[in-house]
Amino acid sequence: MSNSQHYRGRFAPSPSGDLHFGSLVAALGSFLDARHHHGQWLVRIEDIDPPREVAGATKSILTTLECFGLNWDLDITYQSQRHQFYQDKLNSIIKGNRAYGCDCTRKMIMQSGGLYQGHCLSNNNLSDPHSIRFKNLSGIVEFNDRLQGLTQVGNAFANEDFILKRKDGLFAYQLVVVLDDIEQNITDIVRGCDLLEVSTRQMTLYQYFNHLPVRYLHLPLIVNDAGLKLSKQNYAKALDLTQVKATLLLALDYLGQEVSLQHQDYSVEALLIEAAKNWNISQIPSGPLNTKKIISN
Ligand code: GLU
Ligand code: ZN
Repeated sequence: MSNSQHYRGRFAPSPSGDLHFGSLVAALGSFLDARHHHGQWLVRIEDIDPPREVAGATKSILTTLECFGLNWDLDITYQSQRHQFYQDKLNSIIKGNRAYGCDCTRKMIMQSGGLYQGHCLSNNNLSDPHSIRFKNLSGIVEFNDRLQGLTQVGNAFANEDFILKRKDGLFAYQLVVVLDDIEQNITDIVRGCDLLEVSTRQMTLYQYFNHLPVRYLHLPLIVNDAGLKLSKQNYAKALDLTQVKATLLLALDYLGQEVSLQHQDYSVEALLIEAAKNWNISQIPSGPLNTKKIISN
């Protein structure tokens, strides 16, 4: 990587529950990649969706990161405090004639094949409530992921006029994640593969904002027996804070990083320094990994 001096990564959890093993792996991968490149690593709490938030989750996520030695640089940012910034940017997109209102229902979109077809592009008679969609003139169809390699999405997906602000008045993740990553000068995003395809939408917004896109590295997901991503919804367990080192060693193993036996004697801090030094992305498996192999429960 050429500009490692300017590396700045981030971990951007939504406070919809405690960190579980899957989200720890993503945080650890992002942290180690940043530290390996002598870069900064920021934490941003993506609390833009109150109905999905769980009381106390933010505090618990931050405490867990601290316990695992994943110390961040600079102040934490909270998306819930940035509504005015998002609205100003959205207004400028609307003013530039690159966004428009849409009152289509999910049912209508499903009936027309699952992707929105531009139905409201020239609708001057919107009912309330309505969402705001991006007028997508040149969708990105492919990009090179540092781990997943050439990643391609279908034309229809790439060119969909996706939502910037939801019908319920909440800002869409796609918009705010890009606004914040640009504003915070993020150069590298390391996160789970569940966000691989939507990276193309985020790149489309980077292009709209005349900003060079970031580098992406999408880590394999940790899945349960049924092949589902670990998440609060499928009852992934919160991390055991009395088992920090053992869990870190497991996460490193999962990421394909060699952990010599002597590491067992290291402190958490020393283990992370060593892991950052030896961080080697060519050893990370690209496909999903089943927890059954690695977590006995
Ligand atoms: N807040 C998003 C999530 O928790 C992740 C955002 C990102 O890494 O781009 O799924
Ligand atoms: Zn519509």
